[in-house]
Amino acid sequence: RTVYVNGVFCPENQGVVSIFDRGFLFADGVYEVTSVLDGKLIDFSGHMARLRRSMSELSIPAPASEDELLSIHRQLVDKNALAEGLIYMQVSRGAADRDFLFPAGDIRPSLVLFTQTGQLRDRPAAKTGLKVVTLPDLRWARRDIKTVQLLYPSMAKTEAKRRGADDAWLVEDGFVTEGSSNNAYIVNADGALITRPLSHAILPGITRSAILRLATETGLTVEERPFSIEEALAAREAFITSASSFVMPVVEIDGHKIGDGAPGEIAGRLRAIYIDEAVKTAV
Ligand code: PMP
Repeated sequence: RTVYVNGVFCPENQGVVSIFDRGFLFADGVYEVTSVLDGKLIDFSGHMARLRRSMSELSIPAPASEDELLSIHRQLVDKNALAEGLIYMQVSRGAADRDFLFPAGDIRPSLVLFTQTGQLRDRPAAKTGLKVVTLPDLRWARRDIKTVQLLYPSMAKTEAKRRGADDAWLVEDGFVTEGSSNNAYIVNADGALITRPLSHAILPGITRSAILRLATETGLTVEERPFSIEEALAAREAFITSASSFVMPVVEIDGHKIGDGAPGEIAGRLRAIYIDEAVKTAV
């Protein structure tokens, strides 16, 4: 693979970041993941807007302009002949002698981008559905910032696998916050789509925002409110969204089948509509 590291494109085994990089020492960095379909970027402007917000919440200066970042994404697509997959963009505060204090003066943020090839459109799990287990949400209290501090989600997903499931739904005070790396939804007996409202408790998913708009446009009732595990277990459907999975049905929570245990009709419809629009509006 060709990757991008602080101004240069190079083979992945030649990309170098300082051992004093604060991303490494303090998880002092943020990132974005943009999906690629037919060699084009899905909702790039949405991911850029969230990146700007993450950086501004942490006072990390922009490593490059939006035009430059778009150009780097496109060059990576070309250099890697990436038709379908993901582009990761990692921005850390940069390298400085180890100190808890944010370094004063002139420190350049580090910028690293790399690609992952993979099928996004045709995923077996879209037809069979995912099994999730619930685990306590032990992450920090600013989950709205997309930081590289992914240790707890990584532990949770590993624990979910150990228990024979595909992923974890995280729970705080009896209510689902979100998945380990995705937003969580249920459809209740009345056919209403329910997902947790934006706050510091969850990441404002770029896919979430598109899905809620599409759901409303297709006449679904959308309720942005917290839902409990009990409500999820009694739901007609459940699903997740993220840039890498689009929309994925959830068919089992903590060993209990959701609805009839098959992927939900609304999840399937939203997945199809989402992919259709994403391809049409890709850059
Ligand atoms: N929540 C968390 C914790 C995530 O890591 C992600 C994936 N980045 C999402 C939600 C979904 O966000 P998006 O739709 O922008 O990928």
